[in-house]
Amino acid sequence: MRNDTYEDWKARAARISFRRQAFIDGRFVDAVSGETFDSINPATGQVLAQVAACDAADVDRAVAAGRRAFEDGRWSRRAPGERKAVLLRLAELIRAHLEELALTDSLDMGKLVHDAATIDVPGSAHFFQWYAEAIDKLYGEVAPTAAGDLALVRRVPLGVVGAVVPWNFPLDMATWKSAAALAAGNSVVLKPAEQSPLSALRLAELAAEAGVPDGVFNVVPGFGATAGKALGLHMDVDCLAFTGSTQVGKLFMQYSGQSNLKQVWPETGGKSPNLIFADCADLDAAADMAAFGIFFNQGEVCSANSRLYVERSIKDALVEKLIARANATQPGDPLDPASKMGAIVDEKQTQGIMRFIAAGKASANLVTGGARVHIDGKGCFVAPTIFDEVRPDDPLARDEIFGPVLSVVAFDTEEEAIRMANDSIYGLAASVWTDNLSRALRVSERLHAGTVSVNTVDALSAQTPFGGMKQSGFGRDLSLHALDKYTALKTTWIKYKS
Ligand code: NAD
Repeated sequence: MRNDTYEDWKARAARISFRRQAFIDGRFVDAVSGETFDSINPATGQVLAQVAACDAADVDRAVAAGRRAFEDGRWSRRAPGERKAVLLRLAELIRAHLEELALTDSLDMGKLVHDAATIDVPGSAHFFQWYAEAIDKLYGEVAPTAAGDLALVRRVPLGVVGAVVPWNFPLDMATWKSAAALAAGNSVVLKPAEQSPLSALRLAELAAEAGVPDGVFNVVPGFGATAGKALGLHMDVDCLAFTGSTQVGKLFMQYSGQSNLKQVWPETGGKSPNLIFADCADLDAAADMAAFGIFFNQGEVCSANSRLYVERSIKDALVEKLIARANATQPGDPLDPASKMGAIVDEKQTQGIMRFIAAGKASANLVTGGARVHIDGKGCFVAPTIFDEVRPDDPLARDEIFGPVLSVVAFDTEEEAIRMANDSIYGLAASVWTDNLSRALRVSERLHAGTVSVNTVDALSAQTPFGGMKQSGFGRDLSLHALDKYTALKTTWIKYKS
């Protein structure tokens, strides 16, 4: 529980300063081209910083620095226990700079500063700590060979890992990739989203302060079509960990085929179904979490529960409860702890959401919201919006809107609910609400999703893998499984006289 006031956050915002250059080989540097781009606060339209716009030349420098560091072993060959000590210090530094980092993400992409301070930043520190603590507890294998043969099977770091991440959880997405990749001994070149580059730059600086050697953790801010593409096509990047849209995830698979066959791990879009059965034990809890599942972070969550399938007998009662929750979740200044929803990331995303809403008004029943909102006459805000009686084939029920827009569809049978839930190109997450254990297990088994939450939404932890099926991609972040992405299995076979 934090007790910061609106005045506290405004005072901190007035004092904050940002890193605006790329971080390459342990130093902040301008882009080779000298170009910059504006990082804009979507709640006010104010330019926060002019940030180095990296392109292929900067990516080359960062990859070369990462490769040099990897080959001379300054990090890759350090004992796991030593890497652990450094990453634990980084976790502590993140905690020590919690207010600054929370404010940075909030100002940069519009999320509630209270959420950033209680969820995102503590999460980032926790994930660095988790991988730090794990890395000196992993053992290799000795294969069952005949006498005279000894075959050792170890997991070794890959080399240079490229990470390209989105803007919805800037610090956490940067952390999910880099904590595991660094713990495993790789060098990292991270490209944050152009909408939210600032916290990643500060993270790199804190990593250096914690003792991550020069060249091991590099950050190249810039656009997707320049910096992102250059990383995807680079001949000396061994692995590309991507989180973002399905469309761009597919591009990275192509970049790999066109270049050096680097491993690509896409974690992409979603349109997660939430199934509420009439035998659900607590309809108020289901309504609370259904609302949270779509309105948290302005609905800009890859696993947002954007499709709600409700058993017909309880549908009207549930929609009433959801309308009440939506009314209580109106957007406001992201720095005000009393605000319940923040700003949409930018003008383009806001207009995209409003186009879905405008089309939906003709095809479905708008029961609440549906309007763009201005706070103090400014900014990119959208009211929490619910459509009822959405046809299963309506774009509202099929496309990833990535905003606070919920589509409600009634069902009559379990079979119908499962069929509609699975009728999607995505398969990231799903939720099921029922008090019947057999139904919970039966439905969970049949839903095509990387994570199924029962009687909650969006269950997630450092201990469990996070990722999707189908066109939600096949990379997995979090848990020990994420280390598989950043390591290769290596066999050393030794002959001896037995
Ligand atoms: P995006 O795909 O537009 O951008 C993601 C990253 O890719 C950014 O850094 C961007 O600069 C880069 N990029 C864009 N075009 C590129 C190109 N042509 N070549 C190389 N790089 C390019 O996605 P976004 O709008 O930033 O984020 C929203 C998307 O992220 C949603 O689809 C959401 O579902 C997804 N997401 C997925 C997860 C997950 O774990 N599955 C988590 C969070 C967000």
